Amino acid sequence: MPDDKLPPRPSQTKIVATVGPACNTIDELVELIRAGVDVFRVNTAHGTRDDFQQRVDAIREAAGKVGQPVAILADLAGPKIRLGVLPGDKLDCIAGQRVRFVRGETATASGDLVTTYPALLDELDVGDHVMLADGTVSLVVERVDADSATCRIVQAGLVRSRQGVNLPGVKLGVETLGPVDRENAVWAARAGIDFVGLSFVRAVGDVLQLKSLLAAEHSDAQVVAKIEKPEALDELDEIVRAADAVMVARGDLGVEIDIARVPVVQKEIISVCHRHHKPVIIATQMLDSMQHSRIPTRAEATDVANAILDGADACMLSGETAIGQYPREAVEMMHRIALATEPLYRQRPPRPEPQVTAADGLDPIAEATACSAGRLAERLDARLIIVASASGRTALRLSENRNFVPTVGVSDSAATLRRMCLYWGVIPLAGAPTEDPTGLVRFVVDRGRQSGHLVSGDRVVLVAGTGLSVTRHNMIVVYQIP
Ligand code: PEP
Repeated sequence: MPDDKLPPRPSQTKIVATVGPACNTIDELVELIRAGVDVFRVNTAHGTRDDFQQRVDAIREAAGKVGQPVAILADLAGPKIRLGVLPGDKLDCIAGQRVRFVRGETATASGDLVTTYPALLDELDVGDHVMLADGTVSLVVERVDADSATCRIVQAGLVRSRQGVNLPGVKLGVETLGPVDRENAVWAARAGIDFVGLSFVRAVGDVLQLKSLLAAEHSDAQVVAKIEKPEALDELDEIVRAADAVMVARGDLGVEIDIARVPVVQKEIISVCHRHHKPVIIATQMLDSMQHSRIPTRAEATDVANAILDGADACMLSGETAIGQYPREAVEMMHRIALATEPLYRQRPPRPEPQVTAADGLDPIAEATACSAGRLAERLDARLIIVASASGRTALRLSENRNFVPTVGVSDSAATLRRMCLYWGVIPLAGAPTEDPTGLVRFVVDRGRQSGHLVSGDRVVLVAGTGLSVTRHNMIVVYQIP
């Protein structure tokens, strides 16, 4: 039996959790939703399409049990280069010694490395840097021959079969949306996935290519551009404008650029996203130590809080929920940090009102109505703003305002409600009568009273339409509960 109430005190910052063996069962997923997960990420870098579909089915069943919209983000692996099989499955890299990249899928001689990218040897040049195993080992190319590239080990460490290979600064010829990703994108479109993540975006054309592939499948899935390559930073404005949402994918970003620059680049990406009205997710190692510990480090807790203070819409958990020992505790901790941080974020100077143009797809009357409703709600110390949103765009506009009065988003479209799961401060609520302003307020107020969110004397603000014009949102109604 689904809960017939507003969810218990959600944080305004949204939580994205990666699914994996640590949260495979319906009960485990239900626990995570109740702990605060808004969006589940299915990482297509691991598993088969049958595995992905099973995960999607399980998430939908769990969301149905809780009676709450929950979105799914299918994350395409992108052209991630990995080591192939190493002799003995590992290699101890000692500083100053040499290793060789050779062609093929399996290395036979000690010190030889193979990769999943056949063209690597053709694209490496003397002086290029190669990072292995998340950047823990670094090499510099000293010599390139027809069938091998000899590298000197600069930073020592242990590498294992299948670990990642990054080539910072090397312009690779590989396409961003390769054949496997294209098949997975078609699967995502047909499976009704809400968000599709595009890894290793390098140019705006990558985003447009995925969008047209999804459109050809009649999918309205939203594209999340993962920023993790220096080339993407060079074209950031155009990429963010073309994408529906953005992820600061700090795992690979921290190998592709100097790790010391990651905090500053994170802030830059967030501010470009704000300029273009796009939700932004901060990802990777947010509470990493909670894979093996019930509490995070002080630095991790501070990282989550700082991301929220920077203006992130969502924070993401990866290994913490996918393979960690304490997935529920990690979600609860992220939720607690968000609740503790949001009051401070509230005291910050208001964001400058963004200039919205027709290109942003929002009608100027609806835009001004949404902005004014937010200000009115704050001034009247209202408990809730209610908005009926067909596409979710007006709900997103209220979210961007950072009004600090939570917005209840309602829609006739289940897909729109799930999309709202990523919008900061927006609580999607299913089953409301969207076309009848009076009935809509009653519906939300009844649920708010049942869950204890609303009491007599509380005010709610409704953003609605009179039906007088084609503009859907042209009316603000204030209601005080008797
Ligand atoms: C990242 O690199 O930070 C990231 C989120 O991508 P993935 O987990 O797919 O490597």
